[in-house]
Amino acid sequence: MADDVPEIESKYAPPTVHCPNCESMLPHELGEIECGVCSAVSRVEHKPTRDSWMDEKVGCPSCSKILRVGVDERPCALRCSSCSIVFKVIKKAVKVEINCPKCDRTLRIRPRSGKRKIDCPACMETFSIQF
Ligand SMILES: [Zn+2]
Ligand SMILES: [Zn+2]
Ligand SMILES: [Zn+2]
Repeated sequence: MADDVPEIESKYAPPTVHCPNCESMLPHELGEIECGVCSAVSRVEHKPTRDSWMDEKVGCPSCSKILRVGVDERPCALRCSSCSIVFKVIKKAVKVEINCPKCDRTLRIRPRSGKRKIDCPACMETFSIQF
């Protein structure tokens, strides 16, 4: 891939919301979000997240200068005012903790709407979860 723009993960994620139609967990995004299970579209807004994104400070991956992002969307592109490289601030990868039903080990996984199967790395048990 020619796209070698460095990426920095944002420290702030929108709150967890569930589809009003089918109760599945929606992706951690703001704006118009389509439910991966029932395709209902919800409009999700969260001012505190937008404010945090606007005010978020990140270190330039090249020269380490601290920059204020000043954009209330993720992902967004940013140009360093000091060394002028361009990099991206991407969405925070939200993970949730679930416990294996067999051995009780805590697993941290990325939620995705709908049902899926998980293999426990400790006891090899396969179980289904639904968000
Ligand atoms: Zn839904
Ligand atoms: Zn820089
Ligand atoms: Zn297990």
